[in-house]
Amino acid sequence: KAKMQQERRVKRAENVEGDFWVDSTCIDCDTCRWMAPATFTRANGMSAVTAQPAGHVERVRAMQALLSCPTYSIHTDSRTAQELSEAQVGLPALVPGVPGVFHCGWHDVKSYAATSYLIVRPPAQGGNILVDCPRYNPVLARNIAALGGVSHIFLTHKDDVGDHDKWARHFNALRTMHQSEVRAGTAGVEVQLRGEGPWALDGTPLPAPATASGSSSSSSSRGSSS
Ligand code: SF4
Repeated sequence: KAKMQQERRVKRAENVEGDFWVDSTCIDCDTCRWMAPATFTRANGMSAVTAQPAGHVERVRAMQALLSCPTYSIHTDSRTAQELSEAQVGLPALVPGVPGVFHCGWHDVKSYAATSYLIVRPPAQGGNILVDCPRYNPVLARNIAALGGVSHIFLTHKDDVGDHDKWARHFNALRTMHQSEVRAGTAGVEVQLRGEGPWALDGTPLPAPATASGSSSSSSSRGSSS
């Protein structure tokens, strides 16, 4: 299987000449296209580099897309240590116009490339909330720690759980998930929501889980939600 995967990693013909390129293992998840729209475009059902990044800022954005590609399908033939460092330091990235909310990047193929966000709150308000989980990476973990770590992990959908167990262990965070979304791999989540909500965590409204039905209540082995 690994050999087959290796054989498929060929540069797509749709890429323009230059450092950055996408290989044929792209799963068309759209991540690179919204993270670095000046560089990546959809071409024949997958992403391709249709314009090489122009200048330092665009190269760093393209590097962040490379780091966040869930299938490692983006490559660069050359990059500086400074570009890589800036790309890594820049994730999580503040979501424009949404104070205190950061896009984590580092999308996980196990989550079908779902986007995860970090909601930053002071410890007195209950600490930070990770909404869905990125791929576990020690660089990202260090950056999240610098933003205050993770007190709670809210998993919105059974398919978007990523490396939830590694993140929960790393930050000793409480995981919350709607009971109807819990599967074998998430049976150990600490808080299970029931009913239709809406729910809040220490005053912060939670996004609606993918499925919500029945009567409103929650059960917890380590914490509580309101
Ligand atoms: S992030 Fe990766 S998998 Fe997703 S569209 Fe871009 S190249 Fe394809």
